[in-house]
Amino acid sequence: MTETRLRFPPSPTGYLHIGGARTALYNWLYAKKTGGKLILRIEDTDTERSTDESIKGILEGLEWLGITFDEGPYFQTDFTGEHIAAAQRLLAEGKAYKCFCKKEDLDAKREAALAAKATLGYDRTCRDLTAVRVAEKEAEGLPYVVRFKVPDRTGMLGYDDKVLGRIECSYKEVDDFVILRSNGKPLYLLCNVVDDIRDRITHIIRGQDHMTNTTRQVLLYEALNAPLPVFAHIPLTLDTKKSKISKRSHGEIVAVHFYRDHGFIPWAFNNFLVLLGWNPGNDQEIFSREELIEAFTLERINKSSAVFNFRKDDPKFFTDPKAISINEQYLRTMEISELAPMVQKVLEEEGIWNEAYAGAQKEWFFSTIALIRDRFHTLKDFASLGRAYFADDYVIDDKPLQKNVLKFDQLKVWLPTLADRFEQLESFDIEETERVARELADELEIKPGVLINAMRTVVTGQLAGPSMFDILVVIGKEKVVRRLRGAGRLFPAASL
Ligand code: GLU
Repeated sequence: MTETRLRFPPSPTGYLHIGGARTALYNWLYAKKTGGKLILRIEDTDTERSTDESIKGILEGLEWLGITFDEGPYFQTDFTGEHIAAAQRLLAEGKAYKCFCKKEDLDAKREAALAAKATLGYDRTCRDLTAVRVAEKEAEGLPYVVRFKVPDRTGMLGYDDKVLGRIECSYKEVDDFVILRSNGKPLYLLCNVVDDIRDRITHIIRGQDHMTNTTRQVLLYEALNAPLPVFAHIPLTLDTKKSKISKRSHGEIVAVHFYRDHGFIPWAFNNFLVLLGWNPGNDQEIFSREELIEAFTLERINKSSAVFNFRKDDPKFFTDPKAISINEQYLRTMEISELAPMVQKVLEEEGIWNEAYAGAQKEWFFSTIALIRDRFHTLKDFASLGRAYFADDYVIDDKPLQKNVLKFDQLKVWLPTLADRFEQLESFDIEETERVARELADELEIKPGVLINAMRTVVTGQLAGPSMFDILVVIGKEKVVRRLRGAGRLFPAASL
């Protein structure tokens, strides 16, 4: 069997968005599954819209996702000579022709066809010009484009799509399309095929929005005497209103960098992406890298469009709830040793990383992550909801402050008392701290919950979290005592 060779060829005219990332992932998975190669090609022929900034963003996005390439990046514009040569070859072999029709004339014919509700398309005026006529027009200096000569055949033109099955249309439906502009520049449609032939691409996995190109490209493969690759057109990603997702209508939420910047775990995000248009045939939702490579098949790519469930109206879900839920599952179950470097990065970004967490306090750092991760949605939560574990400048949420602290004025005395008793403890462990807190509650004839809830609020800033006595031990005696002792400042000055 020949080696499978796949490619991801983004046009660098914007950032890497969800749809592009999913295409890259499917290609990567299939290359891995078949032991093949994946090639990165930057399709920068549209020089007016291509930017270096976009190339940088796309490369960063792919790197963040962990999508690696075996070859490239190649740049399409480096092969312009080859693209032109291919057009010249088709011309020389009579498979393409020079078209001198003026734009105004073509536009007028189009208008007329529209008005008459006739089929639109090039009427082949120049297709059968004699060599003498062509030479005359050229001598006159008339500009021309080069058009591909769609064969006059009665049968059907088509290909077997791995996702959609046989795709066909009649030859008559395909226009003699332009392959070289009057300024001598080759068209994208041709460049794409020439590059895929040169790169010996065996499988093309791309969005269904490219299907109109594919029909014409099938003809180019034949004309250039190249074997047809396998095509797999994947469904588009739509929003809940069935419109195509785009930056214009949805903003940054469709960009891969949005997920990186919001603290998503890269593989968890891939796991979300793969399910946006592919199904394993059972209800498994979480896949390790190896499991996914094993399970992934082109045949299980869905035929119908995928829905990106972006609920703008619900602030609780700042993106598709499924993306969040998958990320949460990874947060809860990943090996701490794998999670720790990601948490480190977030803490570094927030300026609350301590080098000791990677050295003398490494064990503490790991057990803290293990203790607090259960309620978190993203990595960012380690620095926000979990800030009190790593820094003293955490914010105390207003809701628990009102409910658990300010409601009981005496807490401004009780909490410092508790601090004093904790300070006396020789062994600041779960049993001892719990015993002391319960004893004090008994003495004060209050429910232990009053002290416990107040402690949680003051020490962590949060309403909910892991078991309070686990928290105390993790945060440590010195900080706990200091925070409880300082609780008085939370009360309005007048009540002091
Ligand atoms: N450059 C095209 C795009 O970014 C990809 C074309 C292809 O996959 O053949 O949409």
